[in-house]
Amino acid sequence: MEMPDPQVIIIGAGPAGCTLAALLAMRGVECLVFDDDKRPGLLVGESLIPGVVPVFQRLGIEERVAAMSVRKPGASFFAGPDGPRIHFKFKNVEGHLPPYSFNTPRPELDNLLRRRAEELGARFVHARAELEACERGGQSSVSLSSRSRAQAGLSTDAEPLLVDASGRARVFSRLMGLGAKKGGRDDVAHFAHFEDFEHDEVEPGQVIISVLKAGWSWRIPLPGRLSVGIVVGRERAKELGATPEERLERAIAQEPLLREKGARARRVTPVMTYTNYQLLSERGHGPGWVLLGDAFGFVDPMLSPGLFMSLEGARLLDERVFARGADILDKPEKLARALDGYAREVVRWHGAWMELVEYFYNGRIFQMHLAGRDMALKPAPFDLASRMERHTTFHLASMASGGMTRSAYSRGLIRFLSKHLVWGVPAAANFAVRDACAPA
Ligand SMILES: Cc1cc2nc3c(=O)[nH]c(=O)nc-3n(C[C@H](O)[C@H](O)[C@H](O)COP(=O)(O)OP(=O)(O)OC[C@H]3O[C@@H](n4cnc5c(N)ncnc54)[C@H](O)[C@@H]3O)c2cc1C
Repeated sequence: MEMPDPQVIIIGAGPAGCTLAALLAMRGVECLVFDDDKRPGLLVGESLIPGVVPVFQRLGIEERVAAMSVRKPGASFFAGPDGPRIHFKFKNVEGHLPPYSFNTPRPELDNLLRRRAEELGARFVHARAELEACERGGQSSVSLSSRSRAQAGLSTDAEPLLVDASGRARVFSRLMGLGAKKGGRDDVAHFAHFEDFEHDEVEPGQVIISVLKAGWSWRIPLPGRLSVGIVVGRERAKELGATPEERLERAIAQEPLLREKGARARRVTPVMTYTNYQLLSERGHGPGWVLLGDAFGFVDPMLSPGLFMSLEGARLLDERVFARGADILDKPEKLARALDGYAREVVRWHGAWMELVEYFYNGRIFQMHLAGRDMALKPAPFDLASRMERHTTFHLASMASGGMTRSAYSRGLIRFLSKHLVWGVPAAANFAVRDACAPA
């Protein structure tokens, strides 16, 4: 039987591409995904926030995700070995979002999302998509090469919507020479999985982010192992060693927070390296194309918003563009308006995450935490101080969960508190993530 032409072609079978494919297939939209099958055995993106759980539920895969994951009750932030420690619990967001999330081995999650998209009817081509820059209506655009068109089984006059979900390859932006707004960070990350790395100072499943002498680290409990990563400036990386293995090993040996817990640990995977940057494409769509997931923008991994942005981006694209039927694809002006609505939402999300993560980089989150704790200890009428502290914690946890990240009230509250309610506590700079070690 001849297959109908795909109406949407997605480049990249990562979480963003597969989630969109699954959602579109649920609506009966004909979609096809190019998967270059380049999936290393180990991938970052293991720590998820509660905001992804409703998407798993919508796709009907929450139980399957749970079966291969460790349940994540929250995340803790340590300001060095002796500094303040903040323990965020997702149970704070009950009523808004599921009060938990998951730590998940990434290649397995990608495979599950791809299988689910296939089960729902999306088609996959196991090949690298080849694209070419072109013009449509006087504007920059992209088209598939004739080879890729043939692989996709496209008839001569078919013009599907092309979705760039190629992640950091940013295939469309590179081809069209689209600019991007960059954030302040330009780090390098090294990580691996360990067995017998102790993780007993917090609740099981809790992720720990620690400010190091320079840079920061993650510890993510996965089934049977711990994912340990460092994120450091390029100079600090060179100081730590010449190879990724040396750098990760030395960082663990030099950092009191990691040394003691990792004393008996065995590394059971190769050390993987990523560059860590903050970036947002200057445009999100154009005639015949749209960007999704990392290909649109990348916040920063400290608060683990990456997978959320990919899944939520796919959900928004599905809802904003396709909720009223796939015939929108034949109405260029209506389609452009719908894509514009989607792109604006993604940009708002990006801005909100960038604002939130900055409190963690500049140390103000720890300063607010100390000020709140001091206040809660002081006697006040109607238990006002500790109520205020609980209120603030609720808003911070909800923002970091993906529930209230964009809420004007939550953002205003945190801006206000970080400016006006931090007297009598050490300066934020004491807890900030530094690029270089402080002189001894
Ligand atoms: C150091 C670090 C730590 C991180 N930690 C976390 C975390 O704990 N939690 C979290 O949520 N996020 C984390 N992230 C972010 C997360 O990994 C990404 O946001 C997420 O992978 C983006 O998904 P995606 O589908 O957009 O892209 P990707 O996962 O990159 O998928 C893109 C896919 O497209 C394929 N592709 C590319 N070009 C082509 C082509 N021409 N044809 C066919 N296929 C193609 C690629 O091979 C890949 O499979 C981290 C990122 C970094 C750098």
